[in-house]
Amino acid sequence: VSWFRVGDTAATDPRRLALNDPKDPLIGITCFGFLVELGVLSASNKTDYVLTRGFLIQAGGPAWEQLLRRCVRVGLIIPLGGRGHDRTWKLIDDAPELFHIRLKDEVAWERQQKSDTRNDRYRTTVFLRDGDSCRYCGVVVQPNDNRSGRGRTLDHVRPGQTARTADDLVVACRSCNGARGKDWQDEDARDGFDARWPLRPIPSPLIFIRSTVIELEDKGHQVPPGSVIAERAKTPTLDTPTADQHPTPVGVAEPTGSSAPECQHPAPAGVAAAESRTDRSPTDRSGTASPGRVGSGSGRVGSPARASPAHRSDPIPPRATAPRRTRRGRRSRSAGGSA
Ligand SMILES: [Zn+2]
Repeated sequence: VSWFRVGDTAATDPRRLALNDPKDPLIGITCFGFLVELGVLSASNKTDYVLTRGFLIQAGGPAWEQLLRRCVRVGLIIPLGGRGHDRTWKLIDDAPELFHIRLKDEVAWERQQKSDTRNDRYRTTVFLRDGDSCRYCGVVVQPNDNRSGRGRTLDHVRPGQTARTADDLVVACRSCNGARGKDWQDEDARDGFDARWPLRPIPSPLIFIRSTVIELEDKGHQVPPGSVIAERAKTPTLDTPTADQHPTPVGVAEPTGSSAPECQHPAPAGVAAAESRTDRSPTDRSGTASPGRVGSGSGRVGSPARASPAHRSDPIPPRATAPRRTRRGRRSRSAGGSA
């Protein structure tokens, strides 16, 4: 993953074009090269867009002050203050369509996520505890699926914090993991984050996909007695409780007449979580966001209603389910913490 990126539209951006001067045909392109070099210097030195005098001199050579003035005038470099050799500036940091630098903390956190979620000690404990069910929405996840929303990931319960024990990680579907990641990025809405993403109870019985059972056995572990073992998560006709945990397509009546929402992604209205679940109707989305439902403990996993044979045998129209999976499968997700 690149650390510094120039946006696709940067060359024609009005701010870039403002660097041009008809009387000096080279100045625009020279300034642009100057900015790119500064971006590279900031990224490689992990200064999060901050530019030192040394960077400016290195990038601009003897012309650095002239180039700097021009870039400051059009707003592509912002003076931060300081005096003499300690003066600093920053490259424009709120225009990813022009320049984007991955922040030091972002990079560090992504590394930490990978290190935690690949830690075998945690993985084994988490899988034996959660099985292959998403702890946020309850769907049965698909191990070894690195693309679709149903793919299995491990998610940090407290984003941004290094896992200290297996309790800090849970099994999550890629949809939930990605939506949580986006939600967390909204710093203004962090206060309600935990409330928006309540953990569901550990499913009982646990549900495992066969490949997880094999993975665990290879490490000398047996899944708990009574666990349900399924071949794949995606087949909606499995004669196991897994079939029951597919969110019922929008438009299919709740067979039990209970108020339990079919899919309990706690996607609150107005946050990115909702955006990532565009396969759901606004009605469905607002339903899951209602405070009475989220975290109400009426989850399908582990709830008595789930085991109801009438409920389980309720047919799910294939025409309603097929497009959902196709769309999810096509979507590329960049959620961190892929298992
Ligand atoms: Zn989920």
